[in-house]
Amino acid sequence: MKLMIASKNKHKIAEIKDILSDLKLEVQNALDFPEIPDVIEDRETIEGNAIKKAVEVAKCTGLLTMADDTGLFVEALQGEPGVYSARYAGEKATYKDNCDKMLNEMKNEKNREAHFKTVIALATPAGLIGTCSGKVMGNITEIEIGAGGFGYDCIFRAFETGKTFAEMSNSEKNKISHRARALKEFIPLITSYLKIS
Ligand code: IMP
Repeated sequence: MKLMIASKNKHKIAEIKDILSDLKLEVQNALDFPEIPDVIEDRETIEGNAIKKAVEVAKCTGLLTMADDTGLFVEALQGEPGVYSARYAGEKATYKDNCDKMLNEMKNEKNREAHFKTVIALATPAGLIGTCSGKVMGNITEIEIGAGGFGYDCIFRAFETGKTFAEMSNSEKNKISHRARALKEFIPLITSYLKIS
């Protein structure tokens, strides 16, 4: 059975392949299919975007497809940037632009609690099979800390380790991260689909 990962992000593809390596699946990704158009992520929730990506790419390729979407939800900002995390500081924003904007918005804020959430959707060309999610709680630091990772890693300190994601090794981050937790939930979802299909 083939599984399509609806992503062109090499970091994500490697992480997903690693966690699903015990399943007897031939894993493909959007980099193998340059003809697939980029799906416009225009839904109001990360669930909506993950479902849209999985369903559209499954229809386009004819394959069982998984897609994920992630957001950083900051309490003091009423859950922003959430679904807009990638383009918080504008359509062409870099990771640094987004972190700078966040540190500035949070400058005088005492409540710094935040969480990352990832939703993964699984679909066939006939439609959605199901979704699963993972979450990690933490807070927004006052300055950038740590040199590793990507995105908001250098300003998000996880409660469970007391370190920012940018200070953790990949294996440390992958034990507690939102995406790793969603992927762990994904295993029973796809396994039960494969049994009934
Ligand atoms: P995506 O849906 O996975 O592309 O995530 C949307 C945005 O959230 C990305 O552009 C990153 O800025 C941010 N993001 C997602 N996952 C992480 C993470 O593990 N660490 C830090 N930032 C992340």
